[in-house]
Amino acid sequence: MTTTVSSSRFLRFVEGFDELVERAAGAETTILEEGKALLHDLIANDDWLPDCCAQPHHQYYQQYLLHADPEDRYSVVSFVWGPGQETPVHNHTVWALIGMMRGSERGERFSVPESGQPMRLLGEDTLEPGDIDMVSPRLGDIHRVSNAFDDRVSISIHVYGGNIGRISRHVFDIANGTTKAFVSGYSNEPTKAAG
Ligand code: FE
Repeated sequence: MTTTVSSSRFLRFVEGFDELVERAAGAETTILEEGKALLHDLIANDDWLPDCCAQPHHQYYQQYLLHADPEDRYSVVSFVWGPGQETPVHNHTVWALIGMMRGSERGERFSVPESGQPMRLLGEDTLEPGDIDMVSPRLGDIHRVSNAFDDRVSISIHVYGGNIGRISRHVFDIANGTTKAFVSGYSNEPTKAAG
């Protein structure tokens, strides 16, 4: 098991999530509904995230693994946005809860691409501290996320229905829906050698 954070608040969250995924036995609706309440409690206090997992990078948004379930049923990640940083349009292939803790982020939701067509924007939401968004293949799984601020760092806490840094998923070209496979990895692990 990987747990990067030692704060009792975070460990209580992990205990609660362990109990939830055990009891829900893969029932996504239960996990999202009850997991949202657990995440809401966690992000209500911005006093537990260690500095090592809150560091922005001048060029790239950062994804720090905070906890990986030993059975890969879920993982918890801090997403750290430098000013103006954004993701490409991407999917997850698993459910995810996104809880805003510091600053603010913008999420744009896109439809599943039709071959050769420009991708359709379905909607846009801005998350403020305490707000929680969710995605899944069932609810809509394709989005682009950006720091709503161009002059300060924002941080959100994400919970995914698998070991997200190890999952092969896709980025999309918004102009024509072309997909490309990628595996995100984590910012707090040694960089793998190219090739
Ligand atoms: Fe995402």
